[in-house]
Amino acid sequence: MKIINPNSDMHSHTFSYSDGLNSVDEMVIMAGRAGLKKFAITDHSKSHLIRHDIVKKTSGSCVKFRWKNIHNDVNVVFGVEADLISEEGEVDFENEYRMKDFVLLSAHRGVYKGEPRKITDAYISALEKHHKEIDCIGHLCAKYFSEHVNVGRVVEVANHFNVPVELNCANLVFGKTDMEKLEQMLGMVDRIYVNSDSHTLYDMMHLRINGLKFLRAGGY
Ligand SMILES: [Zn+2]
Ligand SMILES: [Zn+2]
Repeated sequence: MKIINPNSDMHSHTFSYSDGLNSVDEMVIMAGRAGLKKFAITDHSKSHLIRHDIVKKTSGSCVKFRWKNIHNDVNVVFGVEADLISEEGEVDFENEYRMKDFVLLSAHRGVYKGEPRKITDAYISALEKHHKEIDCIGHLCAKYFSEHVNVGRVVEVANHFNVPVELNCANLVFGKTDMEKLEQMLGMVDRIYVNSDSHTLYDMMHLRINGLKFLRAGGY
């Protein structure tokens, strides 16, 4: 198993465009302080914003056309945490700024409209249809779908299409990970991202460090 991003973090959220606590600029300043070389802002899809009553605060065109990193040398990219919507593999790839420099595919309770027990089919159909657009599968072992998800089958298909999965450090640290499924995933997967899924500046400073420590302690 190869860790793709030892010095970068490819999953985070802002207040500007979804449910983080901080602005784009605050997150980028903290990315520099955390020593990251590359940092992806991956705000939630529009389906997710609607489901969770997250109000629009500003225009997506601000980052799309006018924003520059004036703070540090971190390579900042804007992507999306796209939402798995249905058993047929429908995905919402659009967020407020509509930039897809890094695309995570995640399933969230309430946004995924299919039957929970068919979540494995949903992931597989989405990978079959959209694997060229997906850079990483987000939090596959999150507790809210873990009783239904067949991690082995999803990882097999992900490996086949050369789509990495992530170790989601927020879910790991905050006890939202099915540890048995995570061990299974880590035992099978070819390539992983170690991502914070930061929603606060505190998250940026602590989560990835804990995730990397966990992997080292497990001999990965
Ligand atoms: Zn998520
Ligand atoms: Zn997230």
